[in-house]
Amino acid sequence: MTKAVVVGSGPNGLAAALTLAAEGVEVEVLEAADTIGGGTRSSELTVPGVLHDECSGFHPLAVDTAFSRRFDLARHGLRWRWPQIQYAHPLDDGRGAAAWRSVEDTAAQLGSDGRGWRQIFGPLTERFDGIAEDFLRPMLHVPAHPIKLARFGAFSLAPASLLARRWSTDEGRALFAGVAAHALRPFGSPVSSAIGVALGTAAHRYGWPVAEGGSRSIASAMVSLIEEFGGKVQTGVSVSSLQEILPADIVMLDVAPAAAARIVGDRMPSRIARALTRYRHGPGTFKVEFAVHEGVPWTHEESRHAGTVHVGGTFEEIATAEAVVNRGRMPDRPFVLVGQQFLADPTRTAGDIVPVYAYAHVPSGYTGDATGAIEAQIERFAPGFRDRIVARHLRSAIEMEQHNPNYVGGDVVTGANDARQLIFRPRVTLDPYTLGVPGVYLCSAATPPGAGAHGMCGYNAAQSALRRRRGEQ
Ligand SMILES: Cc1cc2nc3c(=O)[nH]c(=O)nc-3n(C[C@H](O)[C@H](O)[C@H](O)COP(=O)(O)OP(=O)(O)OC[C@H]3O[C@@H](n4cnc5c(N)ncnc54)[C@H](O)[C@@H]3O)c2cc1C
Repeated sequence: MTKAVVVGSGPNGLAAALTLAAEGVEVEVLEAADTIGGGTRSSELTVPGVLHDECSGFHPLAVDTAFSRRFDLARHGLRWRWPQIQYAHPLDDGRGAAAWRSVEDTAAQLGSDGRGWRQIFGPLTERFDGIAEDFLRPMLHVPAHPIKLARFGAFSLAPASLLARRWSTDEGRALFAGVAAHALRPFGSPVSSAIGVALGTAAHRYGWPVAEGGSRSIASAMVSLIEEFGGKVQTGVSVSSLQEILPADIVMLDVAPAAAARIVGDRMPSRIARALTRYRHGPGTFKVEFAVHEGVPWTHEESRHAGTVHVGGTFEEIATAEAVVNRGRMPDRPFVLVGQQFLADPTRTAGDIVPVYAYAHVPSGYTGDATGAIEAQIERFAPGFRDRIVARHLRSAIEMEQHNPNYVGGDVVTGANDARQLIFRPRVTLDPYTLGVPGVYLCSAATPPGAGAHGMCGYNAAQSALRRRRGEQ
C-alpha cells in the first residue's frame, strides 16, 4: 500500500491528506501545534462561550471548487452561513457603501458609480464559475475557459489605482479599495487589482460565508473524513527533517518555502533550494480579538449588518496606508479588517457579548503594539466602540509567526502577492508542487492558487503526486 506523510494540518495539508486517503493511500498527518487546523483554528480566547476565529474568517473561494465538489464535508458538520451584507465600507459622517450578493443592489446604492460597478462585476459574476476553475489551478496550463479568463485578466492585470479611475465618488472608490487591500500590495503596483477583482466577484457569485461553529469546523470536517478513510492525524509533532518521517512513498509539506528547503535538506537540488529561500514574504498583520457588548455601533447603517467591514476611510487614505506598510513603516491610520461573523452565526456569542475580529496591516516583523491604532480606526466610524469592549486578546506580527511558522514575519497569506509570485509560486516551473526529490511535494498556500482556506493548493499537490505515482508525468 502506498504510504504518505503530511507535515502540517492547515486546510491545504488536510485537503492533500484527504485527496490521497480517498485514493486508497495510507495517510498520516503530523501537526506541530496542539490543535489541528493551522489557519482555520477557532477558540474562546476572551470570554467563555465567545468563539473567535484565530485566522481565516470568510470563505468565498471555498464554497464551490473541485475539492468541495469531490468531498461531502457537509455530512461531517461543515455548514456555510451568510451575512445579510457581504462587506461594507464606512466613511466619515455616517456615509459609506456596501456589497450585497446582488450586483444590481450594490450598483443601485452607488449612484453615478453604479454603472462602473455593474460593467466590471456584472459580466464577471455571470462567468465566474469558469474563471475560478482556471485560476484555482497553476497558471501554466491550457485554460479551459480562455475567453472568460481573458476578461478577468483584462481587469486584474491593472494596478488597483488605475482600475479605481472607473469610479469617481468616495463611496465607489472606497468599496473597491477595501477588496483591493486584501492583496497587501501598493495600489500602484502591477496586478494589484487581481485579488480585489476576484474577491469582489466572488462576493456576488458565492457570497462571503462563515463556517457555523467557527472556521475550526472546516478542519474538523476534513479530519473526520480522513479518519473515515482510515487516515491518522497526530498533533504536537514538529518535523524538522525528512529523516524523521521516512520511509514514505509520498511526503506533503504544508509549510513555508524556506522551511521546506530546511526539512528536505541536501537532497533538494541546490537551484530549487535557492529559489525557495529567495521566496518573498509580504507585510505582517496585528490581530485583536474583541469581546464586545452588543456589537460595534457603526454610524453607517449597512456596516451593522455586514460580515466584513473594511476600515480605513477613503481610497486615497487606504492607498497611503498600504504603500507605507510595504515600505516597512507603520502608518498612523492602518487599514483594518473587522469581522462580524456572529451576525451570520449567532452560536459564537455568550448572551449579548459578541466576538469582533480585527486585524491591521503592519510592516513585516513589526514588534510594536497596534491595538491603539486599530481601536482608533474603529472608533472613528463607530463612536462609543471602546466603551463596549469587555475583553481583548492580542497577537502581534511576531506572535503570529510563533502561533504558526508558515506566517513568516506575520505574513498571513504565505507570500507577497507581487506580479511574479501571483503567477509563479513558489518558483517558475510547470509543476509548482514538486521539490526536485521524487515523492516530496509542497502543498501550502505558497503554491497555486495561493492564500485562503479553500484547500485547493493541497488538492492540486495531491493530484500531482497521484499522477506521478501512476507514471503519467
Ligand atoms: C489573520 C488571518 C486572517 C485570514 N483571513 C482569511 C479569510 O478570511 N479567508 C481565507 O480563506 N483565508 C484567510 N486567511 C488565510 C488562510 O488562513 C491561510 O491562507 C490558510 O490557512 C493556508 O493554509 P495552509 O494549509 O497552506 O497553511 P496553514 O493554515 O498556515 O497551516 C500550516 C500548518 O502546518 C503546521 N506546521 C508548519 N510547520 C510544521 C512542521 N515543521 N511540523 C509540523 N507541523 C508544521 C502549522 O503549525 C500549521 O498548523 C487568514 C489568515 C490569517 C492569519
